[in-house]
Amino acid sequence: MSVDSSFDLQHVWHPYTSMLKPLPCYPVESAQGVYLTLESGEQLIDGMSSWWACIHGYNVPELNQAATEQLAKMSHVMFGGITHQPAVDLCKKLVDITPSSLEKVFISDSGSVAVEVALKMAMQYWHAKQQPRSKFLTVRNGYHGDTFGAMGVTDPANSMHQLYSDFLPKHFFVSAPKTGFYQEWDESELDEIRALLADKHQQIAAIIIEPIVQGAGGMRIYHPNYLKGLRALADEYQLLLIADEIATGFGRTGKLFACEHAEIQPDILCLGKALTGGYMSLAATLTTTHVAEVVCSGEAGVFMHGPTFMGNPLACAVANANLDLLLASPWQQRVSQIESQLKTLLTPLQELRNVADTRVLGAIGVVEATESYDVAELQRIFISQGVWIRPFGKLIYIMPPYIINNEQLTCLVNAIRLALIQQLD
Ligand SMILES: *Cc1c(COP(=O)(O)O)cnc(C)c1O
Repeated sequence: MSVDSSFDLQHVWHPYTSMLKPLPCYPVESAQGVYLTLESGEQLIDGMSSWWACIHGYNVPELNQAATEQLAKMSHVMFGGITHQPAVDLCKKLVDITPSSLEKVFISDSGSVAVEVALKMAMQYWHAKQQPRSKFLTVRNGYHGDTFGAMGVTDPANSMHQLYSDFLPKHFFVSAPKTGFYQEWDESELDEIRALLADKHQQIAAIIIEPIVQGAGGMRIYHPNYLKGLRALADEYQLLLIADEIATGFGRTGKLFACEHAEIQPDILCLGKALTGGYMSLAATLTTTHVAEVVCSGEAGVFMHGPTFMGNPLACAVANANLDLLLASPWQQRVSQIESQLKTLLTPLQELRNVADTRVLGAIGVVEATESYDVAELQRIFISQGVWIRPFGKLIYIMPPYIINNEQLTCLVNAIRLALIQQLD
């Protein structure tokens, strides 16, 4: 049986798309390793890891087994007043592998919710200290999710703040980090944020940022000293620092967590996306003993959040298998191989007239074109070349599964080159 594409077009909303002029959608029948198999039988090399998530590729025996075994025990049970091995094991692993000061774990359903949880923790923290604060400080071009709290700290232009202006809280935004990861650091880059903090710090609960790589807000890769500087400023004004590693976590940037590039520890850490290897939705927010103790010493006496599917055993069991698989694999070697190959292959694209910039860090490769091209048309070219890449705006970027080999990665970059050349005529 084939997918009813006309029903899909008429009734099914896809991410960030119009119901009036929907973009074409390609029915995928199955996926295996780095390949997506379309209904037509075509096999596509996956350049997206299904939005940073499928780090080991698809149909992974170890993850299938974990899901099957857990399914036979229980797929879900409420987390209020009940606990279970998959959740305890997962929290233990997360406490173990994340920066050492992070010791308390709140499991939730999705990245956006993990960010909401982080923001609420920061607000409850200041409330408990009897200095209520409800403002956050962040940078432009950030992305933290699509729910209202998360959207409030996401880039105002990209998330159309004016649309929701009566409803969205107004937070403090400073310019996006400018100095690239490999460029020479310029300390004056922190002047704007330093000036703002000097003036407004008493209103601010926390600084929230994606460490080193700004993902969906522009695929920008910035200098570790910026993050170091933020940590120092947060300390100076005793503000909390929230690191949103939902995209960067679990090895993607070449370190297990991107904070490690700057050798800093956040007060609150958000994880998601690759947490279950792309099998199902799961996220986590970690914090320090200090923050947890202050939060719970306040008027509420508890942390005020508790999703229905909190700690879902099926998702936790798969996450455990995913982390075991990751840590047992030569992921560092794989990611650094991808990084060096991407540098070799992407840099020459800068010679094309319609390429403004190329950037690489870990298993992330970005080509910024001089203009936005038609996504549907680019996608047709990519499919004809046997690859799956989904550009947005001027950005054509790839973050393949870590198991991709040299040849497959070359195919991805060749397809990008071809698509760019075709746009030149
Ligand atoms: C994807 C993403 C989110 C939102 O996660 P969802 O699971 O889509 O809700 C938040 N922050 C960052 C940095 C992300 O990349």
